[in-house]
Amino acid sequence: MAEVRLDEVSKVYADGTRAVDGLSLDIADGELLVLVGPSGCGKTTALRMVAGLEDISAGLVSIGGRVVNRVPARDRDIAMVFQSYALYPHLDVYDNIGFGLKLRRLPGAEIERRVTATGAALGLKDHLRRRPRALSGGQRQRVAMGRAIVREPQAFLMDEPLSNLDAKLRVQMRGEIARTTRRLGVTTIYVTHDQTEAMTLGDRVAVMKKGVLEQVAAPQELYDRPVNMFVAGFIGSPAMNLVAGVFTTSAEGVVLRIADQHLRVDPALLRARPGVRAYFDRPVAVGIRPEDMQDASLVPAGGAVLHAAVDLVEALGSELLVHFRIGAPGVITDDTRELARDAGLDPVDPIGPGGSSGPTTELVAKFSPRSRIRRDELAEVAVDTARLHVFDLDTGRSIQ
Ligand code: ATP
Repeated sequence: MAEVRLDEVSKVYADGTRAVDGLSLDIADGELLVLVGPSGCGKTTALRMVAGLEDISAGLVSIGGRVVNRVPARDRDIAMVFQSYALYPHLDVYDNIGFGLKLRRLPGAEIERRVTATGAALGLKDHLRRRPRALSGGQRQRVAMGRAIVREPQAFLMDEPLSNLDAKLRVQMRGEIARTTRRLGVTTIYVTHDQTEAMTLGDRVAVMKKGVLEQVAAPQELYDRPVNMFVAGFIGSPAMNLVAGVFTTSAEGVVLRIADQHLRVDPALLRARPGVRAYFDRPVAVGIRPEDMQDASLVPAGGAVLHAAVDLVEALGSELLVHFRIGAPGVITDDTRELARDAGLDPVDPIGPGGSSGPTTELVAKFSPRSRIRRDELAEVAVDTARLHVFDLDTGRSIQ
């Protein structure tokens, strides 16, 4: 295995589309890096440049310390795993795994050694004489990976390998891939548009937008410290609520005005984000994760509370998703809408439900299932203000 390096890599297609723009990434030996972003952000193009399936317009790609820009795909010593496993139905597991080695005319003893070792590493030892149709979906996936691994490539590339599967199988396969790649310690680049898949699989996750790398970090770091509104809105489900607000000082300490409401701000927020002080008394974008809000009747009194009109309660068993509105937003600007839209969000409803009640701000909270909240009620929503995110409205950057 080897490290893979992209250094200021760009791709401009013949029609002028700049699909990847100055992408720099180091994928360590044995690391699983996930490339994630909305459709069309350039992740497949980036992967295809590493694989050698696409010319590189600018920059350098190296594998194991060797620049491969001019090396044809078949000589890059890389294995690609695609959506369909494409196993040979008439061959058993052993022959499916060994097929490529046979084609390359390796000696029989060497093929046997490698296939047996790969089968054992993937937990397929007892199934080597079975045909694909007698295997579970997970076992088939492992055979497909086995076929790639047995060639002992320098790296694995996977492009949405799970996108054809139903939801339940996807979760199973995701676990399978995570376990297998970790066990084998293979350097892997994995492309997906699904942030949950990215977060659960990646040692690190690289978030792309319009050809540009927005942030690369470990999953928890991305979630806790997104560098801008785009990453903040993309990572997490349901998405982070983004609303316009203004911080000010008052007799009761620092308060945050959102729409027509005031939230008392936990001093811990300003210790964690001292930069926010420089933004007092002017509009900023405030990010509130759904999980940082709770039914106020379930938490100690005295914290910050929003007065909410509840539109919808979705009971998911382990939690309630509570959709609610707060009053007329005096400070929401077109800029905010633009930035929010850019982040793939629509937190602001300029008309309001029913079309007559004037502008409102809609939010989603994750409540404990112990909450007795109901739709069409007025409710108090406690906000953990120490965990707020704050962004510059002009640049979208996180204010730290
Ligand atoms: P998806 O998740 O939808 O597959 P992606 O993030 O993988 O998207 P790419 O397939 O890399 O994105 O495409 C990036 C951009 O390049 C898109 O705007 C796409 O339309 C464009 N593009 C891709 N292939 C070509 C091509 N052969 N010629 C011109 N433009 C292309």
